[in-house]
Amino acid sequence: MEATPTAASDALAQLERSRANWSRLDALLRRLVTRLTYAADGRGPALDAALAAIRRQVRDPIDEAGLEPLLTELGEAIKALDEPAAPSGKGAEPLPFTEALSVGRVLLALVDRLKLGDEALDRLEALRETISSSTDPATLAIQADALAALVNRQYEKLGEARDAAERLLKHVTEQLEELAVYLAREDMSHRDGASARERLDQEVLGEIRELESEVASARELGALQAQVQQRLGTISVHLKNFRQREEAREQEWKARTEQMGQRIRELERSAQAMEATLRQEQALASTDPLTGVANRLVFEQHIADACLRAARSGAKSSLLVLDIDRFKQINDSFGHAAGDRALRIVAEQLRAGLRSDDLLARYGGEEFVVILAGVGAEAALRAAESLRRRIESLGFHGQQRPVRITLSCGVTVLRPEDSPESAFERADSALYKAKRGGRNRCELA
Ligand code: GH3
Ligand code: MG
Ligand code: MG
Repeated sequence: MEATPTAASDALAQLERSRANWSRLDALLRRLVTRLTYAADGRGPALDAALAAIRRQVRDPIDEAGLEPLLTELGEAIKALDEPAAPSGKGAEPLPFTEALSVGRVLLALVDRLKLGDEALDRLEALRETISSSTDPATLAIQADALAALVNRQYEKLGEARDAAERLLKHVTEQLEELAVYLAREDMSHRDGASARERLDQEVLGEIRELESEVASARELGALQAQVQQRLGTISVHLKNFRQREEAREQEWKARTEQMGQRIRELERSAQAMEATLRQEQALASTDPLTGVANRLVFEQHIADACLRAARSGAKSSLLVLDIDRFKQINDSFGHAAGDRALRIVAEQLRAGLRSDDLLARYGGEEFVVILAGVGAEAALRAAESLRRRIESLGFHGQQRPVRITLSCGVTVLRPEDSPESAFERADSALYKAKRGGRNRCELA
């Protein structure tokens, strides 16, 4: 990509060198013209005036329009010298032959050194002929002047060519800068568009390589300019296509992202719904439907954990088994529904008489279990007593008649060697003892 401005800079440098050569040649010719006008001086006032005017002209940039009448004037002054009737001042003498020859030779050498375009070849040839056939200093001066004008025109043309090359170089540089900025932006915004960028790189690099070879082999600035413009145009088309492809890809990507987002939101919603259902089911699976306290399954998990803790670290836990006394009679006397209501009230009261981290579960029928974590025998017995009293003092009514409900309780402290079954059996045997001992009492085992 950097080769194009370099090649254009080379062309520019070459033009600059040519311009310097032309500039030297121009100065040389101006000096020569001045010298020749001095050599031709003193042959008549009209000629002297014309020669002085030419000297003034060659001091400044040559104005061709001003030079034309001057040349006519000069021609007439020379013709007047040749006319016999003309008043001759000092008289125009031809240069000595050798002097004229050497001036002519210098001019011819200059003509030979001039490398002008095709359009100036005819003029150069005519100049060459006139110079080689002339020994007259005035004629030679005119030819030298014409030569200077030719060089001056060429010099101006070179200046124009240089300006055009500069403009072209500026344009190329701007386009390449724009390309570099665009590619850098594309690179940042599309990390996944590697293949599309590769394709663009290939297309643009191809164009730039073509451009390089065209610049290297270019002979004519105008044609080169056209080629460069055309290549830059093609590069712009590639860029436009690339942009369109990228935009289409981006649209597709956005649509897919949106779709995926929707899918994810749907999945999130159904996951949340499933979680809620699961929680509900878990709660149902761990709750006794009649009384709302934990069920036997939960008790079994807790007693297993408590046994494990006792075995591992000797952590204290107590187990209470509570059974409503003569519950069958309640059912029989007041109906099963009243029995159910009595069960719910007893469960509620037991819950109210315990701390929040104590586990209360319905073991089955009219039997409840309690696990007191971190509680030893004495405190466990005290807790059991307090529960028993709570139920005893309950003002339960069946068919508008007060009904006394009591319960019996077996208490035991978990031992390190206990299994859930052995611990339960011990508490159950204590309960049996309480029943046998007259009910509405607590026993420790
Ligand atoms: P004890 O003092 O020896 O424990 O006498 P009890 O009558 O309480 O014991 P028993 O095991 O003979 O009878 C328990 C009764 O509890 C039998 C059963 O009908 C009743 N029962 C068990 N589950 C329910 C229940 O969910 N609802 C009702 N209403 N009654 C139940
Ligand atoms: Mg029972
Ligand atoms: Mg009972």
